[in-house]
Amino acid sequence: MSIKPRIAVIGAGLGGVTCAILLQKMGHDVVIYEQAPRLARIGAGIGLGPNVLKVMREAGVMDQMMDIGIVHQSSYSRVWDTGEILWNRRDNDWAEKYGLPPLTMHRGDMLTVLSRALKPGTIVFNKQLLDIGTRMGETQLLFTDQTEYEADIVIGADGVNSKVREILLGYEPPIYTGFVAYRSIYPSSLLGDFKVSSDAAKWWSDDRHPAQEDRHFIIYYLTKQRDEIYFVTGSPAPDWPGGVSSIPATKKEIKECYEGFHDEVQRVIDAAPAASKWPLLERNPLPLWSRDNIVVLGDACHPMKPHMGQGAGMAIEDAAILARCIDAASGNFTAAFRRYRANRIERTSRVQRESHENVWMKHPTDPSWVYGYDATTIDLVSEDTLVD
Ligand SMILES: Cc1cc2nc3c(=O)[nH]c(=O)nc-3n(C[C@H](O)[C@H](O)[C@H](O)COP(=O)(O)OP(=O)(O)OC[C@H]3O[C@@H](n4cnc5c(N)ncnc54)[C@H](O)[C@@H]3O)c2cc1C
Repeated sequence: MSIKPRIAVIGAGLGGVTCAILLQKMGHDVVIYEQAPRLARIGAGIGLGPNVLKVMREAGVMDQMMDIGIVHQSSYSRVWDTGEILWNRRDNDWAEKYGLPPLTMHRGDMLTVLSRALKPGTIVFNKQLLDIGTRMGETQLLFTDQTEYEADIVIGADGVNSKVREILLGYEPPIYTGFVAYRSIYPSSLLGDFKVSSDAAKWWSDDRHPAQEDRHFIIYYLTKQRDEIYFVTGSPAPDWPGGVSSIPATKKEIKECYEGFHDEVQRVIDAAPAASKWPLLERNPLPLWSRDNIVVLGDACHPMKPHMGQGAGMAIEDAAILARCIDAASGNFTAAFRRYRANRIERTSRVQRESHENVWMKHPTDPSWVYGYDATTIDLVSEDTLVD
């Protein structure tokens, strides 16, 4: 093995790219192998809590993101039909409470900013991992185009259908939760004279209503200029056709699902030129996060329903803690990966559980355990604290 390990990250998603930036800043040699031909600009927004921005600051990209995204001035939790306000989150007070504000932006813009912070040529595109083997004591990555590369450490940041997770634990599809997310982004000008009544709002169905299955509708601005609007839902759907990550959605099906919801929701659906539909997938906490020199992070490790807006947040926190554990490892990466897990398992499992329940911040909530966390400075516990 070389003095500085050759680190291979599988997957150029938000977790993988963040991990690579932080490792490069620490002086490590990192290559990212990504199956796609280029970075995709998925039509979706992303909410980044103060816990996530702290890692973005460490990665040197926070200011660029703050220039593009928006800190919502008003963020409401509301009743589906009457619009009664259950909670006004006052996100703009959060900088004082948690060190930094929450930021919302287009996820494609976020990935663009992140990828520019990598050393040129870090991402190798069109490389879909097929298997990991060994030859003469060296770890070999085998890709579907039959190319092979060597690495000393392999970080699986390859998402919910992770091949690296499969290599560690065997094939098992993620669990379809019985919910989909309808998503659409469009220019706010398409709303005409109508203005949404807050920068962000989550409209909750009534769990006391006997005929209404759990569903919600989230609307928020994506840019400082408030010229781009986004909606994303959690909507019951008994089946999902396997094998695809998203399909187009019709306005008719969205209207049917949100029939009777407040006029503001109806107007935002009516103005959308197009929408897509995504399955909400999750896994139970994994019994194993690493073996020898292979480790997983983010959705490869703990995919969750998106109802705390923390899936990418946990991937990004993982990236920061894993980079710190690798950097401190002095060659014993098996111990470094156990230390990483010891520092992450409890928190990510709790976020998975609470995301599944979908009650986060419906009513006034103290979110300090999520937003007050700083993965870049928190004292790391030793791997000896890990109970398998
Ligand atoms: C509707 C919805 C809304 C959400 N909203 C939020 C939010 O507001 N805030 C938040 O924090 N999170 C949110 N999330 C969760 C978030 O999107 C995920 O948790 C996050 O993207 C996970 O990041 P990742 O880097 O682990 O994986 P991914 O982003 O999935 O990246 C994985 C990468 O690996 C690549 N890959 C896969 N297989 C291979 C292979 N075999 N070889 C090479 N490359 C491979 C993929 O092409 C991809 O680029 C939301 C999720 C959904 C579904």
